[in-house]
Order: sequence, then C-alpha cells, then structure tokens
Amino acid sequence: MTVIHESVWPAAFGPERRGTLPPVDGHTEPKLTPTIADVLSSAVAVLGVPGVENTLGLPEARRVCVILVDGLGLRLLKKRAAYAPFLKSVIDSNRPLDAAFPSTTATSLASFGTGLPPGQHGLAGYDAVDPVKRRTVNQLSGWPDDLIPDEWQPHRTLFERASEVVNVTTVSKSKFEESSLTRAALRGGNFVAAGSLTARAGAALEALKAPASLVYFYWDEIDKAGHRFGSESDKWTYQLEELDSGLKRFIARVPANTLVLLTADHGMVDIPASQRIDFSEFPELLEGIELTAGEPRCVQLHFSQDATAEVRQQTIAAWRERFTKQAVVMERHEVIARGLLGENPDPRVLGRFGDVFVLCHAQIGLYDGRRVAPHAFDVIGQHGSLTAAERLIPLLTLKKP
Ligand SMILES: [Zn+2]
Repeated sequence: MTVIHESVWPAAFGPERRGTLPPVDGHTEPKLTPTIADVLSSAVAVLGVPGVENTLGLPEARRVCVILVDGLGLRLLKKRAAYAPFLKSVIDSNRPLDAAFPSTTATSLASFGTGLPPGQHGLAGYDAVDPVKRRTVNQLSGWPDDLIPDEWQPHRTLFERASEVVNVTTVSKSKFEESSLTRAALRGGNFVAAGSLTARAGAALEALKAPASLVYFYWDEIDKAGHRFGSESDKWTYQLEELDSGLKRFIARVPANTLVLLTADHGMVDIPASQRIDFSEFPELLEGIELTAGEPRCVQLHFSQDATAEVRQQTIAAWRERFTKQAVVMERHEVIARGLLGENPDPRVLGRFGDVFVLCHAQIGLYDGRRVAPHAFDVIGQHGSLTAAERLIPLLTLKKP
C-alpha cells in the first residue's frame, strides 16, 4: 500500500474546498467545488447541446455570451470594485468558482474550452513536460511544430460540440486565431479578430444577431498590466476602469433573451523583486531532476528516469527544508489524491504533470534561472498556486435573458 504524505494545508490557501484525501473505505466521493470547467459547459447545455450538463443551473436563454477577462481574480475585483461601478452593481450575482489547477491561463482555458479537469485535458501548466520527447514545452506560445494541438488535446471542445446546434463565435485578438493554445483548447466555430474593446464589443453584438448563438469574448489587457506593473498598480486599475465602462456600454446594446456572463481564468499576487528566487543556485534542489516546468508560483519537477528512490526523497526533503514556511511540496500522487487534477485523471496525460509540485503560499516566485528568459524575473504579478487571490475567480451575470 502506498502511504500518502499528507502536506499541511496552508491557511493562505483558504479552506480546502476541492475534496480531501480519499476515505479509507473508498465509498464517499469527495465533493468538488465548481470550477471554470463548469462555465462554458453549463452555457452550451442551456443552448441545447446534447450530452452536457448545466451544472451551474444557468437560466434558459436563446443566446449566451461569455466574457473571459484574463487575470481578473475575485479577490482583485472585490478589492477594486469602487473603480468598477458597473461590475459592482452586479457583484451580488457572483458565484465564486475555482480556477483550474495550476491557476494559469493555458490550464484554465483548456478546462473552460473542454469542460474537463486538467487531469483529463492534459494542459499541465504554463510550461509542461512532453514525457515522450523529454522536453519542456511552453503551452502559451512557441509550440514546436511536431507537437500537434489536436493530438496533445484530442477531446472535442465545447465550441465544436455547440457548432452543431448554434452559431458559435470567438471574438479575440487576431494573434490568437492561429495559436496552438487556441487550437488545442478552444477550436471550433467562427473566429472574429478585433482589437479595441469597442471593436470586440461591436463584433460580439454582430454575432449575437443570430437567433441562437454562443459568443466567447476574450479580454487580456488586465492580465498584461498585472504581470508588467503589478495588480496594485494604477495601470491595472486603469485597465479595470476601461473594461467596466466598455462593458456597461456593451450590455446596454445586447439583444433580449441573451444571457451574458463574466468570468476569469485566474487571479494574481504581486511578488517583490527580492522574492523572485533562482532555485537553480541551490544544487541540493536539483539532484536527480531532469526537467523543470510549471511556473514560478507552482514549480513542477520531473526526475530523470534513473533517479533512485533515495535520491528522490532527498531532493524532496531539500525543497521542504529550504522553503518550509513559504511553499508546500507535494508529490504527484498527493496532488491527485487531493482532487487538484479533477476526477478520473487520465494515465495517458499524467506524465506531463510534475513528479513533484512546489506550491508557493508566501509572496515568492521560484525560477529555474538556467531555463527561463531573463525578463521572466521582471514579472511582478504572478499566479499558478492555490492562494485565494490566485485561485478564486468570479462568475457574474451581467445580463439576465
Ligand atoms: Zn497571466
């Protein structure tokens, strides 16, 4: 029998909402919190797409528009609600959801687009390991030519399924149209490229003219401002104000019988420059490690196949010792047992997830300085871990049908 090391759940992660270690008798199913995987699946269920459940109990509507604001965590939104009077006016409609795990765009968008947990769609983080070719692959951009998005993520997306029943339109920036992540996570339907918020709102309104339609509206300016200037910065607040006034104008023009929802893919925490740590400077943390992946808030370590059990345990112990008050170190089986990868993880994709996860709860970011670009150390706002600021995301009803 495998003995599962049970890490102490840090207070910064909030109550453990994702289920607990499996009970000894194996009978009780852990009850999992709704996540971003429930949003689009519930929306397409409302539109009559067969085989999908409306797990969020959304109201009946002929048209649904889902606005996804990259990086707009629930904590950040609540803290700055005074700058967003329109969103504040609908905040009571909020239903808190969890981002996918790790709390990062590639993983959360894949859960959004497929309705599946990370353990099934297999987009394992910002950087993920391709276990066949033994390499680390960035999941947002720069996919190698031989990594085929439709093979890497073969499940049918909700857009593909919904296209058989209603008109499906993605409204986003042109650079995302051909991206491998879009292909893997959000393929299907029409893509309308539009730049400014006004242009995107106009394109979404045009698509909502169809009698039965699903519109996905993606907005990434807040996340960009947060990474570059921090979520506490004036530039972040400015982006929130812009979004808020743009959404107010948009909603006033949305046709009747349309449900408009707003959600996000993750939140963010600001990491001081002195706490952005290059872990590759500590040789004891690298013993037996072949590949590193994930992101600074959620490092994923992959042992070389010939690393002995003893070396593995020594390295894990070294990480626990060095970051004892700042991060939780979990082996993959504990991450699975805690339900973080969702129900029924698929053995075919599990090798993409780290053998070991280092989850920061203090305000630190951990980098492999040998591998990441130097400018990665300039990033202020970060996410990936399980603190409430990173993990909790909003689900707001901007307009009822
Ligand atoms: Zn981001």
